[in-house]
Amino acid sequence: NSDLILHVNFELVNFERKRRYTVKDILGQGTFGQVAKCWDLETNCYVAVKIIKNQPAYYRQAVVEVSILHMLNQKFNPDDKHHIVRTLDYFVFQRHLCISFEMLGSNLYELIKMNHFKGFSLSIVQMFSKQILHALIVMKDAGIIHCDMKPENILISTSVKPTEIKVIDFGSACMEGRTVYSYIQSRYYRSPEVVLGYPYTASIDMWSFGCIVAELFLGLPLFPGASEYDLLKRMVQILGGQPPDNLLRDSKNTGKFFKHVRSIYHLEHDATSEELISAYQVLTEDEYEARESKRPSIGKNYFNHVKLEDIIANYPYRKNLPEEEISKESLTRLALVDFLRGLVEFDPGKRWS
Ligand code: ADP
Ligand code: MG
Repeated sequence: NSDLILHVNFELVNFERKRRYTVKDILGQGTFGQVAKCWDLETNCYVAVKIIKNQPAYYRQAVVEVSILHMLNQKFNPDDKHHIVRTLDYFVFQRHLCISFEMLGSNLYELIKMNHFKGFSLSIVQMFSKQILHALIVMKDAGIIHCDMKPENILISTSVKPTEIKVIDFGSACMEGRTVYSYIQSRYYRSPEVVLGYPYTASIDMWSFGCIVAELFLGLPLFPGASEYDLLKRMVQILGGQPPDNLLRDSKNTGKFFKHVRSIYHLEHDATSEELISAYQVLTEDEYEARESKRPSIGKNYFNHVKLEDIIANYPYRKNLPEEEISKESLTRLALVDFLRGLVEFDPGKRWS
């Protein structure tokens, strides 16, 4: 939007026509507009100003972002203890809605990259995970689904505490029970129920959280699906199972990825639960291609192991650890597998909340 770029090159003024913010740099760009690093002349601080495109759809969603963040922070996070970004102000400038946020630092993806995709130690993974959980608890209490939890939307705070992180980007967030959109979450972090078109709840954020925790440890995404089909195939492979039949039966998109091999109703009737086999079978690649006339690109499996347990036990290799550290770490890795199993659980009803 060239119109927007022009504005960003000049000072922003608030609606009282009093100069308040000076644009210093661009921090990020997206479909919504841009985020500018600004000097706030009133408080003498840097702030991050999200400048929304002057199009009705973006404007409306940004109004939702402002109101959700306002509610979260005023009602549920007044002491700023729960690792959610603070909004400072919002205003309309030349028909662009602008939201100013506290200035934060690098995001977790950039941090993983700076660490050469090697993965962080278990203690660092724990420290970040606890903080993200604090934010998720507040969202759950408030009845908010973030809908875009991923490393890019978790930022390091630049304040005195160097290891504090905050969740940002409530631009896709919604209220539980008012889930209007079906195309949500970034693909690698997208929950099976969203892929399958099953009614979703706040537990989709817990799935994404599991993916984030795994990635912090591994240095690489757990399910780097090149397409939704590839994503599902990776989930089935790594988790060693597939979504439960009742979920598949009640999902809108099941037929896109699975073929119906026998009647589940029939099976439930005359088989004991142990003999129950799934009524659904994942399509082969050829079958999927034939159905979708699309070629899913399957990237190489960089972990050299297929099952979650083996991936976590064997990767990343930590070369320079002393013997006793290795046996201590292998125990903690087992605990990490248990934790991840609770989070990347196909059944949203069984997934840890
Ligand atoms: P989008 O909907 O495009 O993902 P975000 O709110 O995530 O919008 O902002 C886009 C990018 O702008 C972020 O990934 C981050 O790099 C930068 N950014 C956003 N908010 C801040 C902030 N408070 N401090 C520093 N950088 C920020
Ligand atoms: Mg974002």
